[in-house]
Amino acid sequence: MSDCISVGTNDILVTDVLWWTNETLNIWSHIAGFLVFLGLFVYDVTVVYHEYLGTEGDAVVASFVLICFMLCMLLSSLYHTLNSISEESCMKWLAYDVFGISASFLAIFLSGIYYAFWCPEVFLPRIIMMYIISGSAAFVYVFKIPERYFPGRFDYIGASHQLWHLIIVVALVYWHQTGLEYAKFRLTFGCNFEY
Ligand SMILES: [Zn+2]
Repeated sequence: MSDCISVGTNDILVTDVLWWTNETLNIWSHIAGFLVFLGLFVYDVTVVYHEYLGTEGDAVVASFVLICFMLCMLLSSLYHTLNSISEESCMKWLAYDVFGISASFLAIFLSGIYYAFWCPEVFLPRIIMMYIISGSAAFVYVFKIPERYFPGRFDYIGASHQLWHLIIVVALVYWHQTGLEYAKFRLTFGCNFEY
């Protein structure tokens, strides 16, 4: 996400993707994120699901989470690629970008309930950690750190929006890992684990 500014041109699409601009890292960090989650999706469906004796409920939750993560990464990359075409295009794709991130947080919230119901003592710390990581991403984004202290120095590398993208990928990978921990825990301790 970033502000939409009318630039009055419609021929920067290719240069945005292939040339080094202030959007390059924003575009490619989430294309990379998309590929990571696509790979995890395939791996989960083909290996993890069988290895951890997943239930149908696990499959639905894990698939929903990863599809939302992929959607988030894809819509974000498209927004950062297409936002320079026109102000109208920027606003439209910004709405899709926000939709993608909202879908991911909804998926995290719902799956968090699913995991926590299993064993709150084990999963609460991971859920809290998830909110700490996401909160730090939002903090960097909202307060425009570090460029607010060094204007102009981080235009191409290290800008708050790029950090936001990277921390979001880390947060989503961490959450996927939480799902694996959940499955492993259940496999090890069974349904009636008691302290
Ligand atoms: Zn973005």
